[in-house]
Amino acid sequence: MIIIDKVMNITKSHPYIKYPGNVHFECSLCALCCGDTETNVRKILLLKKEAEEISKKTQRDIESFAEKTDDKAPYVYVMKKTKNSKCVFLKEKLCTIYDIRPLICKFYPFKIDNLGNQHYRFSYTKECPGMGKGSQLKKTFFKILFSEFITSMKKNNS
Ligand code: SF4
Ligand code: SF4
Repeated sequence: MIIIDKVMNITKSHPYIKYPGNVHFECSLCALCCGDTETNVRKILLLKKEAEEISKKTQRDIESFAEKTDDKAPYVYVMKKTKNSKCVFLKEKLCTIYDIRPLICKFYPFKIDNLGNQHYRFSYTKECPGMGKGSQLKKTFFKILFSEFITSMKKNNS
């Protein structure tokens, strides 16, 4: 169970963000999050602008790497996978579009929920082997993620 023990308010006019306290995380580059596992079908969701940017940078039609999805707004695409149930952009445990990878990939193993009225809450999945490893995450870590989230959403809506 997640213990939400901290709330930050970046400035008076900015949203409130709850994030889990006492969380340790260090990515081991195992690439488990880039595909399905025995117990989880991973949906790698994409914003419209993200799909367009990947398409432009890789010079591939969106349809070659993603399918439309109707029930995951604001996300409108889901990444296609190989026969091995891995993301089409994964090569030998490395992301070939790392600099333009989707927000959902930048966030993993965390996610953010909009609770309404300018309140947001971070949570995480324990399926990631990096959870519980490494240093304790500080407020700055979540601030940076939140900033990425806001930037992507603004870009998507522009
Ligand atoms: S599953 Fe966790 S440890 Fe493995 S690559 Fe993804 S974020 Fe890193
Ligand atoms: S876009 Fe990159 S980080 Fe995201 S699932 Fe695909 S290979 Fe992994």
